[in-house]
Amino acid sequence: MIGVGDMVLLEPLSEDSFIDNLRKRFDHNEIYTYIGSVVISINPYRSLPIYTPDKVEEYRNRNFYELSPHIYALADEAYRSLRDQDKDQCILITGESGAGKTEASKLVMSYVAAVCGKGQEVNKVKEQLLQSNPVLEAFGNAKTVRNDNSSRFGKYMDIEFDFKGDPLGGVISNYLLEKSRVVKQPRGERNFHVFYQLLSGASDDTLKKLKLERDFSKYNYLSLDSAAVNGLDDAANFRTVRNAMQIVGFMEDEMQSVLELVAAVLKLGNIEFKPESRCNGTDESRVKDKNDLKEMCELLGIEQSVLERAFSYRTVEAKMEKVSTTLNVSQAQAKTRHKVMGVLDIYGFEIFEDNSFEQFIINYCNEKLQQIFIELTLREEQEEYVREGIEWTNIEYFNNAVICDLIENNQNGILAMLDEECLRPGTVTDETFLDKLNTVCAEHQHFESRLSKNSKFLTDHSLPHNCFRIQHYAGKVLYRVEGFMDKNNDLLYRDLSQAMYKANHSLIKQLFPEGNPAKVNLKRPPTAGFQFRASVGTFSFLMMLQTFPADSSSCGGIQSPRQKSLPHFHRLFWSVIKRVPGLMETEGERAGYAFRQTYEPCLERYKMLCKRTWPHWRGPAREGVEVLMTDLQVPPEEFSYGRSKIFIRNPRTLFFLEERRKQC
Ligand code: ADP
Ligand code: MG
Repeated sequence: MIGVGDMVLLEPLSEDSFIDNLRKRFDHNEIYTYIGSVVISINPYRSLPIYTPDKVEEYRNRNFYELSPHIYALADEAYRSLRDQDKDQCILITGESGAGKTEASKLVMSYVAAVCGKGQEVNKVKEQLLQSNPVLEAFGNAKTVRNDNSSRFGKYMDIEFDFKGDPLGGVISNYLLEKSRVVKQPRGERNFHVFYQLLSGASDDTLKKLKLERDFSKYNYLSLDSAAVNGLDDAANFRTVRNAMQIVGFMEDEMQSVLELVAAVLKLGNIEFKPESRCNGTDESRVKDKNDLKEMCELLGIEQSVLERAFSYRTVEAKMEKVSTTLNVSQAQAKTRHKVMGVLDIYGFEIFEDNSFEQFIINYCNEKLQQIFIELTLREEQEEYVREGIEWTNIEYFNNAVICDLIENNQNGILAMLDEECLRPGTVTDETFLDKLNTVCAEHQHFESRLSKNSKFLTDHSLPHNCFRIQHYAGKVLYRVEGFMDKNNDLLYRDLSQAMYKANHSLIKQLFPEGNPAKVNLKRPPTAGFQFRASVGTFSFLMMLQTFPADSSSCGGIQSPRQKSLPHFHRLFWSVIKRVPGLMETEGERAGYAFRQTYEPCLERYKMLCKRTWPHWRGPAREGVEVLMTDLQVPPEEFSYGRSKIFIRNPRTLFFLEERRKQC
């Protein structure tokens, strides 16, 4: 073993030794390391021969700690607990953008697919589950400055299993796609993969039918400076995606509809407007060159005049609707509750020079996940101490609940203030929103309240114009307010949705149900921030539920698992490790206990070390262990007696016991 495979055994345990250990292991291609049941991985950015079928066999049905750390060990543990102990499982993957989260989620899925049941029907389900990835990535991933295949949406995938542990199907939920990317990409970044894939990989014939040209530069929405990406074969990926769509269950005509939609978006991006004076003296916007408009309308079966009219009242940016793939649960629809393994893979934390609404939302999501991580891990630990009657002081950790609250609080959280500003009559701009933020913050500072005490909303005089700064768990981030109001509004004017609904194109019709004149809804659609807060709320709720079903009785339509299962955390870092977030630091100054064992097996294992307990101890196991520890003169501060378990503070005590055993 290179370095220490489990940080819990690291001695001394400090931030420096922690990072040294990771580095030493990484230098020997050991990219995985445990902290107890948490897996840390470091992105190697090159393919290592550690995901072969042989490796799968090696890790299959083995105990977590038997072999060197690997994501497969975690996947195996999760699968076996689900199959043999009937426990629902949940795997959370966190880390900064580019850390390897999405790859990890795919490794988990492919491992589970490799070890679970066989047979024609089961294999079909497995294929569908695995092939959902290329489809989702084509429409939801893009090259960014941090990652050539960056997820621009959050994904929670539930795989359902029957009593034997054979997969039945899955449900994928998507969270807030970064829609604005369709219209505009930051410098050095690309639009969603699918546009480039289509233009590079489709046959001449297909392109002709879609009225497209192969040349990226013909389209405003495809940024020029970064169109081709080294190592990304768009044409080959197009074939992969088409094939995957087929496996997932798209019919030929449905696939065609999707491609028509993609083509229409490209056309839409080329439509330009010019002002035209009207007789009442106002300007009206008119489409400049009608060819793209005409072709777009032909593709979607929309009458040109209808769309033109919708355009001429207001000019709005095109926004792509959420593309989501839901795999049907094949066979026996759920009367009996199935076992579920959930894998959550979200966009990673982002700190750029210029951070906008998108980063704000993405980072809020990560903040929330971090909060869940802390809650679940520490809460579980603390609850065990309480259960066992162990005395201990609460661990001081970086509690980012304050940051979550600053963002999501219903009354004066940043998102609530943004919504309020979006709805307020009168002249509202990004600047008025910022003024409001600053005012509310100042007021609170006056009263020594939430925002000021441990304030995470940082005000200082070095702030650039139109910016605010937040102290996130992963670092300080400066946000520019420009575009916040518009992106939060996320409005599609009704005349446009109605025009789209009139299309003679079944997919488009489905995508704009709000355009149905029979269903005119005068209520304002929810803002982007509101929708997002709701999604984040749902997945936090789900995580908590999976873990703590005890308080889940009132949870409407969501079924609670029968047994509690602690999620398996898979924690990832950038290969350059700068920070060791909250929990690790607390592990560093452990206020808790590294090991615990129930009295019976503990006595069984060490009874030979003491004459009074060997060969038989006739009293209660706990008393036997007490005798043992006294005779061995283990310092009392090194351990505590719980109701059913002994808690050992430091690994060195365990090593001591093991050494003595070897000498016997
Ligand atoms: P994230 O989802 O965290 O933003 P990805 O999972 O997309 O990051 O990983 C970014 C890139 O890093 C991948 O496209 C791949 O090239 C590389 N990578 C990630 N994990 C691994 C791994 N385990 N082995 C080799 N390369 C990896
Ligand atoms: Mg990703």
